[in-house]
Amino acid sequence: MDFRYVRFYYEPSLQIDLDGTINEISQVFPNCIFEACGSFFEYRPDYQMTAERARISEIRQPFGHQSPGHQFFDLYGRSTALYDGFELQRLLAPAFPEESFIPIIFTDLLTCTFSEEDWRYHARALICGTPSVISTTGIVEAPAKPREFYLSILTQNVDSVKKKLSGRFIDYGDERMTKVAAGYVLQILFFFITNGDPFCEDISCRLHNAHWQEDLIRIQVENPAICTKHRLLANKFNHRLSTRESI
Ligand SMILES: [Zn+2]
Repeated sequence: MDFRYVRFYYEPSLQIDLDGTINEISQVFPNCIFEACGSFFEYRPDYQMTAERARISEIRQPFGHQSPGHQFFDLYGRSTALYDGFELQRLLAPAFPEESFIPIIFTDLLTCTFSEEDWRYHARALICGTPSVISTTGIVEAPAKPREFYLSILTQNVDSVKKKLSGRFIDYGDERMTKVAAGYVLQILFFFITNGDPFCEDISCRLHNAHWQEDLIRIQVENPAICTKHRLLANKFNHRLSTRESI
């Protein structure tokens, strides 16, 4: 699917430099128009309660079998609500009836998806579709931290373990979040360009679906690059946009 307009819903409390993120994306998609808007829930406060219907109360039950009630989960000392990412997307979709732009919502709500492979929910940083959702909490919690982290917290205080392994994973308020967010936005845009197949097998490409924090940092922060295949796809897309008056 071709598109020209991309709209970001963002709030400063998320601590991403959105201009920096847009600047990175513009280098790959120079013919697109990126628009920064405020918080989605400030723009549509009527959806605040709606979003709560995507809350999950049991990690090991799919969304259709959740028991009522809003539970919080302990994430290494942080009490956090979990949301079914696809259900959240489905509930928010009516706010975007027109298809003249790609809506991307940045949020600190922690999105999760249920896996039938191990029959449990897993945290996700990214939910692609309409709207697409980038969870800043998910950027911290979804890709796995170094193995040492999980071994060390069995016997040591979380804060001291985080300090010891500082730099090896993205943490809350981390300035590297801006570049990581740019990588997730690229995955969203390629999701639409490829009609639903954004991820890359090449472990050095920004479209690679990193499952580990150290891989995420390597491909999005330390050495951000796009493989030849995806570079060609972007070039073709940019050429199509430049030859059309309106999309
Ligand atoms: Zn690639």
